Amino acid sequence: MTDDELLAILKPRVELLKSQVDAACERVNRDPAEVTIVAVTKTVSPRVAGLMPRLGLPNLGESRPQELWRKAEAIPNATFHLIGHLQRNKLDRTIPLVALMHSADSERMLTALNAFGIEHARPVHVLLEVNISREEAKGGIAIEDLASLYARFHESPGLSIRGLMGMAAYADNPEAARPAFRILRELRDELQQTHGKPLRELSMGMSGDFVPAIEEGATLIRPGSLLFADLPADQ
Ligand SMILES: *Cc1c(COP(=O)(O)O)cnc(C)c1O
Repeated sequence: MTDDELLAILKPRVELLKSQVDAACERVNRDPAEVTIVAVTKTVSPRVAGLMPRLGLPNLGESRPQELWRKAEAIPNATFHLIGHLQRNKLDRTIPLVALMHSADSERMLTALNAFGIEHARPVHVLLEVNISREEAKGGIAIEDLASLYARFHESPGLSIRGLMGMAAYADNPEAARPAFRILRELRDELQQTHGKPLRELSMGMSGDFVPAIEEGATLIRPGSLLFADLPADQ
């Protein structure tokens, strides 16, 4: 496959996604400029991922640090988001490559990120991942623990907590995800009220449920398979 052949497959997918984002925004009177599409490139090669900035999607999401390192080296014109677990021994190498860490989900991780930010005199931009699906197998801060964790870290000099991230339980019907997204927005609103400090970002919505996520206030959506499923194998 040449780049042009790949672009010919990807371009209509990106256009369809953007038109669906616009339509969802219009239904709830939001400006589409408030919604950033983070293309989740974890299943594709650096070459395919590297085409996304040319299609107007410069924000790329990766769930594994090693894969993020590889893509960051190959694609200097992209902006990277870490959306998966970060082991502390990979923190030093990963954080400098990442514009936003979506998956800060424990006191230990926040402590380590804060120390990193202080050491490098630049606050680490993070979202707190909340376990809105209440599934034990899923990561994320328990809803009950969020307020105290935020209170503890929101003034940490090495951190800039920009908002919350969440994943709904898997379901065939996108509407099933809506209540979980609403909970994430309400949690964000409560923290803003309590502390009188803006928490702009809500990272929620993947291929199957980004429409209700946008309608409930998502500022970052994370579609993957919608863009990259069934590409010819010889990328
Ligand atoms: C893989 C992944 C996505 C993308 O999921 P799709 O269903 O392929 O759109 C989004 N967010 C996270 C955290 C992921 O791990």
